[in-house]
Amino acid sequence: MVREEIQGGVAVLTLSNPPVNALGHGLRAALDAALERALADASVRAVVLAAEGKVFVGGADISEFGQPPRPPLLPDLLARLDGAGKPVVAAIHGAALGGGLELALACHARVVGPKAKLGLPEVKLGLIPGAGGTQRLPRLVGPEAGFAMMLGGEPVDAAKAVETGLADALETGDLVAAARTLALTLGEGTPVRVRDRGERLDPAARTAFEARAAEALKKAPGQPNVAALADVVRAGFDQPFDEAVATERARFLALVDDPRSKALRYAFFAERETARVPGLAKDTPRRAIASAAVVGAGTMGGGIALCFANAGIPVVVIETEREALDRGLDRMRATYASSVKRGSLTEAAMAERMARITGAVGLDLAADADIVVEAAFEEMGVKETIFSALSRIAKPGAILATNTSYLDIDRIADATDRPGDVLGLHFFSPANVMRLVEVVRGARTAPDALATANDLARRLGKLPVTVGVCFGFVGNRMLAQRSAAGERLLLAGALPHEVDAAVTEFGFRMGPFAMADLAGLDIGWRTRKATGGKAPVADALCEAGRLGQKTGKGFYLYPEGARTGARDPEVEALIERTAAEHGITRRSFSSEDIVARLMLPMVNEGARILEEGIAARPGDIDTIWLNGYNWPAWRGGPMHWADGLGLATVAAELERFSHETGDGNLRPAPLLARLAAEGKGFADWGGR
Ligand code: NAD
Repeated sequence: MVREEIQGGVAVLTLSNPPVNALGHGLRAALDAALERALADASVRAVVLAAEGKVFVGGADISEFGQPPRPPLLPDLLARLDGAGKPVVAAIHGAALGGGLELALACHARVVGPKAKLGLPEVKLGLIPGAGGTQRLPRLVGPEAGFAMMLGGEPVDAAKAVETGLADALETGDLVAAARTLALTLGEGTPVRVRDRGERLDPAARTAFEARAAEALKKAPGQPNVAALADVVRAGFDQPFDEAVATERARFLALVDDPRSKALRYAFFAERETARVPGLAKDTPRRAIASAAVVGAGTMGGGIALCFANAGIPVVVIETEREALDRGLDRMRATYASSVKRGSLTEAAMAERMARITGAVGLDLAADADIVVEAAFEEMGVKETIFSALSRIAKPGAILATNTSYLDIDRIADATDRPGDVLGLHFFSPANVMRLVEVVRGARTAPDALATANDLARRLGKLPVTVGVCFGFVGNRMLAQRSAAGERLLLAGALPHEVDAAVTEFGFRMGPFAMADLAGLDIGWRTRKATGGKAPVADALCEAGRLGQKTGKGFYLYPEGARTGARDPEVEALIERTAAEHGITRRSFSSEDIVARLMLPMVNEGARILEEGIAARPGDIDTIWLNGYNWPAWRGGPMHWADGLGLATVAAELERFSHETGDGNLRPAPLLARLAAEGKGFADWGGR
């Protein structure tokens, strides 16, 4: 696993553990032994660590997590490297990630090749670096930058590594030779170690670090890895190096077993898995997408057009009238202008992106587009008219996508004579910001159209999850259960602020009623009117002209454009009146009970969604909720959360709710009941 050569007084140790040189037990032991030999050999003046294959070292061996540790442990190996007494230089030709970068950080210098990528992605896996990375990285690049790099988890390239001080030199020629030369110039005796750059982190850098840490904690409340990362970097200011490294190790080990950290790790792998679309072969041919059209320049159409322009794809935005078009284009320009004002976009980039957006009245220009995304009014008649026209106008092979939230995409496809080209691209609002896109596969969607839509979504920087056709697809269909449960709770005795408080306590950034006020109550009202649905409280609010924040009143009061609502006695009286009209005796509910009553019906619907094949895996549902609906990341999504409660408990609770309300829909779905009876979780479900 480690090749040893002595070249001109330098021992070159080359790691070889395909495919990514993961630092499993075997490689650690081999490296430890090779290092010992090199240090004992009097003819060896310095050591170079290199690696074979595409990757330098991809990281720890994740399969060892949760197993009893087998020495040599990585921290011990790194301590020996650090204190080697002979200079050790890392020659990094490819990716050095996680434990791989920590290995390089324990060397006395780092030379990188042009394809090197250096990063500590542990935070993405719910962890923190656990082998000195949190102490050595800040000593090289500064505490604030080091913290930010570990928080984001994204690797930096070779040039950036040299620029920030993470690497000592970039070598485009013979990397190992350059590392050898550098190792010899570092001299004999005690080489300067990264830790010698300061027994503690520079106190002058503390204020900037603390500001960045506070911001991170605010954005990721409840996420134990982010809190641990901040604490451990902070320990670097307060504790000497060895003590801070011990603090880091203790926090790392605690995270490995923390259910919140496990949920984050689960979510990472669930998200990766969504790329595998069942029934879609990897080598499915793709259609070329070089231009786009968006029908409708409203809230969603405007945001979707920005996505195309951002990705360098020219887009024509189509409206029925000049005024609506101009309003839409103005809104897009204003969105870019505010990015320029914030400093996240340059004037030149804004001009370049706006130049990719053309406006048009009437569908004729859709003829030139490789993909058309329809984002007009949510009415079947409107969609049918548009798709029937597109069927005539669009070029052969163009993908015809709809952004509909609820409507039957198979019926929309019926309006065309090319149903194989039709699918859903369900973006979330604001479309230029939200990462999730539900890619809706119709009954007759062609495989190459589906594969192309998935690729395109990724090109737009989105996270596509493929789902099937049903009312509301995955996300909104489950959300409808939560909305119904919210209404039920109001009538049964809870007040909007109590429900919202329980939900934010659970970890959501906003409760359902504050959220409804923000989005506008008329959205749901219109859908209910179209589908015959009823929500006595919300309907009464809408009838009274209380449409949410935009009218200054909804479930809450928003005096003078306030963004957080205040309790309104009028609403509370209305709820009590409505409950009395329905003959309901109100009572109080605990926060826990509120959460169960809101979320478990969603889980139940999730089980039906799996049974019907609308979503392929529980992880797909969780990915949707984590990325489109702000489900708290550290709870891993509704299905993972339910598994944590135990499906037997979930089933019993649902039986209780069903019994109390007389609502048969709340009875455990057959899949849930079966898994519960077998003592299994959704994670054990083998698929349909
Ligand atoms: P919107 O009312 O803001 O915009 C719709 C736009 O379409 C209007 O500007 C209208 O003039 C235009 N339009 C209507 N008929 C047209 C036609 N025949 N040709 C060209 N333009 C036409 O609505 P929105 O919120 O942007 O929603 C658009 C679609 O996206 C709906 O299907 C909706 O269900 C869906 N959607 C909305 C959201 C959301 O949060 N708003 C989220 C996901 C999906």
